[in-house]
Amino acid sequence: MTDIHETDVLIIGGGINGCGVFRDLSAQGVTCLLLERNDFCAGASAGSSRLMHGGLKYLETGEFRLVRESAEERNRLLRNAAHYVSPLPSLVPVRSRFGGLWASAARFFGMNARLDDRGGVILRLGLTLYDLYGRRFRSMPRHRMLGRRRLDALVAGLSPEIIGAGLYYEGRISHAERLGLELLLDGEEMHPASHALNHVEILGAEGGVISYRHGGAVHRVRPRAIVNAGGAWIDVVNDALGIPSRLMGGSKGAHLVVENPALLKALNGHMIYFGTADGRVNLLYPFMGRVLIGSTDHRIDHPDDAACSDDEADYLCAAVGEIFSAIPVTPEQIRHRFSGVRPLPRADGDIGMVTRDHSIVELELDSGIPVLCLIGGKWTTFRGFSEQAADRLLELTGRPRLRKTDDMQIGGGRDYPDAAGREAWIGRRADSSSLAPVRVGMLLSRYGTRLDRMLPELTGGETPLVHLPDYSREELEWLCRNERVITLADLLLRRTGIAISGDLTPEVAEEVAGIAAQVFGWDAAGKQAEIDALSPGACRVEAEPPVACVPR
Ligand SMILES: Cc1cc2nc3c(=O)[nH]c(=O)nc-3n(C[C@H](O)[C@H](O)[C@H](O)COP(=O)(O)OP(=O)(O)OC[C@H]3O[C@@H](n4cnc5c(N)ncnc54)[C@H](O)[C@@H]3O)c2cc1C
Repeated sequence: MTDIHETDVLIIGGGINGCGVFRDLSAQGVTCLLLERNDFCAGASAGSSRLMHGGLKYLETGEFRLVRESAEERNRLLRNAAHYVSPLPSLVPVRSRFGGLWASAARFFGMNARLDDRGGVILRLGLTLYDLYGRRFRSMPRHRMLGRRRLDALVAGLSPEIIGAGLYYEGRISHAERLGLELLLDGEEMHPASHALNHVEILGAEGGVISYRHGGAVHRVRPRAIVNAGGAWIDVVNDALGIPSRLMGGSKGAHLVVENPALLKALNGHMIYFGTADGRVNLLYPFMGRVLIGSTDHRIDHPDDAACSDDEADYLCAAVGEIFSAIPVTPEQIRHRFSGVRPLPRADGDIGMVTRDHSIVELELDSGIPVLCLIGGKWTTFRGFSEQAADRLLELTGRPRLRKTDDMQIGGGRDYPDAAGREAWIGRRADSSSLAPVRVGMLLSRYGTRLDRMLPELTGGETPLVHLPDYSREELEWLCRNERVITLADLLLRRTGIAISGDLTPEVAEEVAGIAAQVFGWDAAGKQAEIDALSPGACRVEAEPPVACVPR
């Protein structure tokens, strides 16, 4: 056992909220230790619909504060993480002019009414309000209502009963898990005494000292304050700390990534955000050359049990049929499926009506050390939520706020070239390396300006993967050495888009495992164990024996 190590703040959980608090506090010179039991952003933060959005549907439940905050944070992310967050033109199809008036009013007043038709009038009202809430830092156009003819010119093949649509703009994030990691790396650079560790096991708390296992050794830390950023596992973490709680009530949501060229073509770059006959809201949009479809909403007792079931996959395929009746989506087209557990506050009744807003519950260890539990929140609002938590921790530790995070660019989003400067940026890197401009452009989209750190390793020439030539051996080796990769899943699911894009075949898993094995010194059994374990936590690649990835 090692000596007791002192730190200002211990953050348990490395989802987007833990990562956000880590960066904010580190920017203030507060020393943090973040401990994540799996990999960074492997929980709900990997299981989301990947929208950086204002939350149009929260207008229906009257959560105006949340809508305003989400819309402002979305607009900030478009600037601060421009390498990964981009505008997404979105359409809400309309089936009638006056549908949904009564149900919308009922939901607004907290009653449980089924809303399966949002008519043109109610939608126009909603989108007008939405524009209003999103006006600060606006960088995208206002909404427009479209009749069927103008809608057909944008998106072909919608079902005949759709009479028009509202066109508005959201943000989408391409590499959500990487952005979480970049927050941690930025935090460590700003304050080198702060550290973030993944694949850690919390062992317990005694007398204000927390024990944990990392890299085979047991360590002990005495923090001045603790942040429980365990998401849907907050109660489990509190149990481990010896302060039992019943704060959380998770809801599982599943997504599919499907290969359906007709659907991809029909979408023409748009998201369709649509109500289904069962009163739910679903979505689909182009994602990494395929189509992402989501999501379900089911109560779940334990977040470790989350997985996208065949029933959910069937439901999502069928839901698309309600708006594209002539473009069948079938289970054989599924290239990847994933699920996550929304860390919602415990509440009875319809899970769809539980608030998606965030809050902080303060508890205490026996020794008097404060424990701030971060409940709920959206991916989109992580910065604001982190700021709120950090402000409280600064107050508790008697430290001043030195820097704001509103305009702080993240990781590879720093000095990211805009459309006008992109070609010149790429040209300069292509000139100084052996890489073709098209390859530099591809890597810029993957890593933002962090590419400048990777590039020296690639200038000696790249060896494309046999089974996925868009990636190279040298690129993956650099990620293994520089980005806290511990397991094969870290590399395939979170440092790269290989799994989420639907490109993870058994052959790719085998080839990438071979590269990682050389970097980390895994023997044959170790390499096979990594391949077999490609289904960690609440967000997983579905196991399809004998290799744990979806075969094509
Ligand atoms: C289906 C679905 C769709 C969503 N869509 C969107 C969307 O489009 N846009 C949006 O803004 N938001 C969306 N969200 C919400 C958003 O993803 C979550 O609110 C957010 O990711 C929560 O982050 P978190 O850090 O609180 O939790 P998590 O990401 O779950 O992080 C908690 C972390 O704690 C770790 N942990 C657990 N136990 C321990 C322990 N004992 N020791 C150490 N670490 C531990 C876990 O491994 C995990 O990494 C969606 C969520 C879901 C599930």
